[in-house]
Amino acid sequence: MRREGLRIGLVPTMGALHDGHLALIRCAREQCDVVVVSLFVNPSQFNEASDLERYPRREQDDARLAQDAGADVLFAPSVEEVYPHGFATSVEVLGVTERLEGASRGASHFRGVATVVTKLLCMALPDVAFFGQKDAQQLLVIRRLAADLNLPVDIHAVPTVREPDGLAMSSRNALLSPDERRRALALPAALDAASELLDAGERSVEALLEAAHEAMRPFDVHVEYVALVHPATFEPIEQTLEADALLVLAARVGAVRLIDNTPLRPNSINKKNTQGEAIATCSA
Ligand code: AMP
Repeated sequence: MRREGLRIGLVPTMGALHDGHLALIRCAREQCDVVVVSLFVNPSQFNEASDLERYPRREQDDARLAQDAGADVLFAPSVEEVYPHGFATSVEVLGVTERLEGASRGASHFRGVATVVTKLLCMALPDVAFFGQKDAQQLLVIRRLAADLNLPVDIHAVPTVREPDGLAMSSRNALLSPDERRRALALPAALDAASELLDAGERSVEALLEAAHEAMRPFDVHVEYVALVHPATFEPIEQTLEADALLVLAARVGAVRLIDNTPLRPNSINKKNTQGEAIATCSA
């Protein structure tokens, strides 16, 4: 296919496909001649054995969903195929991986992500690879490694797809009990509270972060971090919000760890960001 000059798109996933994944696949379908979806639950990026163990696996359903969304090829390698006996190389991105998700989950998490994404890109050799804005720090890590290693691939970001009540779609949502599913609304509530306060004229980082914390309090979740960061570096913004930033957060709802983020733009309207993103577009 490559020799014929066809444009190849790769959508890396860990399966248990939901509408967020399908938005990536549809976006790839719009932009490419051949759409490859990879399905690989990568053990090396899990920092908790229990998280890996209970990660949802539904390969048959995934195959059908991927095909219906426009995938031509489902690449679902075994762990032995990706990490054969003697495997000894890893890809480590410095800097951006040391904060937030990297600090919470440990250095091995992003090392695992960077290594497996580099391998998947080398195995499929796509012209373009599609990733979700939902995992904003991961997206930045992947852009960094693709640039630093001169990988001949475009990295295309797709906006976060949400449930109608604002919860960002995630494979881990399937692990939430009905009560936890309700409490998970703490995350979009925090993003909305900060967006609305920003729209009301507040520019103090402390006040915006406090609004996010305050919004989460009634939901009884364990907040790991809430931060306002520079979108290109993930460095924390001090004191005053003057340029576009990203509000990022991670919280545990029972045993399930969830992350979310939204852009905060001091010079435009942000209100109800988590509602406005319900229908993802292909552009980002
Ligand atoms: P995962 O299977 O969780 O590794 O995710 C595979 C890809 O789908 C990653 O690029 C994610 O960022 C993306 N993704 C996951 N959830 C969503 C979502 N709700 N909206 C958009 N993209 C998503």
